[in-house]
Amino acid sequence: MPLVIITGLPSSGKTTRALELKRLLEARIEARIEAEAEAEAAAGQPLSVQIVGDDSLGVGHAAYAAAQAEKDARGALLSAVSRAVSRQTIVIADAPNYIKGLRYQLYCAAREVGTTHCVVHCAIPTAEARRINAQRGAAGYDAAVFEALAARYEEPSAAARWDRPLFTLIQHDPDDRLPLAAIWAALVERRAPPPHFAT
Ligand code: ADP
Ligand code: MG
Repeated sequence: MPLVIITGLPSSGKTTRALELKRLLEARIEARIEAEAEAEAAAGQPLSVQIVGDDSLGVGHAAYAAAQAEKDARGALLSAVSRAVSRQTIVIADAPNYIKGLRYQLYCAAREVGTTHCVVHCAIPTAEARRINAQRGAAGYDAAVFEALAARYEEPSAAARWDRPLFTLIQHDPDDRLPLAAIWAALVERRAPPPHFAT
């Protein structure tokens, strides 16, 4: 039910983080179900985690090279997310989500069904993302697409309600851990994270 909006530059580690977050949330759900009575676990709490994004929708990196294809990809993401939000599923939207208008629409989709949301920003210096992207070869984004997306990237801001709560992760820092407890508290317990998470 709750929605996690992932955002970041091409090759900033979004998909890696989405998979890590899915694993951690699933472990937490599992532990809770074991610990609690089944009736309680079923009482409107999330029971599963689903990633919806460019990979699951079959949107290739090339879609970002053409305005219409990109618009279609955004529409597909929005409708897939809107369909997936159900009472008991945490949806992770793994796509660039670099336009604030799209993040606003995703936020509205979560609100429409009365659920929570948060934004996870895979922050990385542009030069570093460019280097990793080039290393990926065919698996990465075309160099021109990378530059266009980097130039158009609209960073999330905790000042905007649709970008809040905002968790900023410093990518490729081996000491940087996903703040699972704070994300869980925001999504499931509707508790705002401590101020140092809001950047
Ligand atoms: P995105 O989904 O944002 O395009 P990916 O998660 O696919 O990015 O990661 C891009 C590349 O960076 C991949 O080759 C991945 O293995 C690598 N990568 C991701 N996270 C890390 C990390 N924490 N440290 C080092 N390399 C990473
Ligand atoms: Mg990806």
